[in-house]
Amino acid sequence: MVKAIVGANWGDEGKGKMTDMLAQEADIVVRFQGGANAGHTIVNKYGKFALHTLPSGVFNENVTSVIGNGVALNIPILFNEIKDIMSKGVPEPKLLISNRAQMVMPYHIDFDTYEEARLAGKSFGSTKSGIAPFYSDKYAKIGFQVSELFDDEAVLKEKIARVCEIKNVMLEDLYHKPKLDEDKLYETMMEYKKMVEPYVCDTSLYLWNAIRKGKNILLEGQLGSLKDPDHGIYPMVTSSSTLAAYGAIGAGLPPYEIKQIITVCKAYSSAVGAGAFVSEIFGEEAEELRNRGGDGGEYGATTGRPRRMGWFDCVASKYGCRIQGTTDVAFTVLDVLGYLDEIPVCTGYEIDGKVTTDFPVTSLLEKAKPVLEVLPGWKCDIRGIKKYEDLPENCRKYIEFIEDKIGFPITMVSNGPSRDDIIYR
Ligand code: GDP
Repeated sequence: MVKAIVGANWGDEGKGKMTDMLAQEADIVVRFQGGANAGHTIVNKYGKFALHTLPSGVFNENVTSVIGNGVALNIPILFNEIKDIMSKGVPEPKLLISNRAQMVMPYHIDFDTYEEARLAGKSFGSTKSGIAPFYSDKYAKIGFQVSELFDDEAVLKEKIARVCEIKNVMLEDLYHKPKLDEDKLYETMMEYKKMVEPYVCDTSLYLWNAIRKGKNILLEGQLGSLKDPDHGIYPMVTSSSTLAAYGAIGAGLPPYEIKQIITVCKAYSSAVGAGAFVSEIFGEEAEELRNRGGDGGEYGATTGRPRRMGWFDCVASKYGCRIQGTTDVAFTVLDVLGYLDEIPVCTGYEIDGKVTTDFPVTSLLEKAKPVLEVLPGWKCDIRGIKKYEDLPENCRKYIEFIEDKIGFPITMVSNGPSRDDIIYR
């Protein structure tokens, strides 16, 4: 059976924790999109980890970790991550890398950095991991698949020359930077080849066979619905689809095999990068939620930058769940709200004097003002509680209020960062 674990919002909802937890019963965990630009923070018996490329099932010895064809594969980062987890006592991961995955090249990172600098105040808030230039090249058909590392030398060199010709025009004329060195690029790629060779295979075929043998497969999404290039807050989005539907493409398996779509929704909002964020809060109120949020504060796992904070947004989350095709909502980080006397929730957007509960396109989103309803807090620590009935009444009311507004069943409630902090309903 194939399950997808995806985000309803702007990312950082706690997908890593949910994947690590659900991986205990999985055989295979697949990353199907994105790259090392976002991180998943995971707390388990080995310690606390920020994963960027490795699937979050990697801590379970029974799990095979797959880097799917849809991923932006940064080979040095992947191998540093493997080295890092092994140095902390995690057994060597069983890893497979798709022969169709494309590679983030050193120049993608340079181009990302140069473009952010060129855009200055109008930048997209990129993490400068090369993701946008990488996906641009993929669709411009000048990217490099892992399989090309195994081509004849002459074939690969000819392609490198062709790609450099285009890149060098931009480097010289737009960014005024030094040109690419073709020989150095070839050497780098040969180093990449040595690193990945033991792991490369046709992962789509591997997954097809695994499905036929009845294996349990998790598809792990990165970021969330609102960062999807088609359905998110374009252009303040990421460069690959963050939706469960793309799991079929980025892993290479039949769409009808995805039987469960677990959409992770955080009990309050946070966002990174620029873009409209209707329920955003500021000042001391935001500072307190940021510092108390997540596990040790809401700061980027990749960049360390402070996340923007806001109240739970029913409009964005209802949409985020719908566009994912949600079968189950995992409602996370609820424990963090225990300090509040009252908890505002955004239940509608007022746009040009009219209130809507339907998430609008970006131009209208920019004009939206939050309609807030205030619920009573529960004023206690709910960590350690295992049964839904044992949660304080106001806490259950908060969950049920949100479930009603978003219209999808909250079947799991996460009340702490570790694997066991989970309440099934
Ligand atoms: P991801 O990108 O969706 O995997 O999200 P992050 O890695 O940014 O996860 C959010 C943060 O919340 C991490 O630091 C997690 O350890 C933490 N976390 C996840 N679930 C919970 C929870 O239920 N309670 C608390 N307090 N922290 C959680």
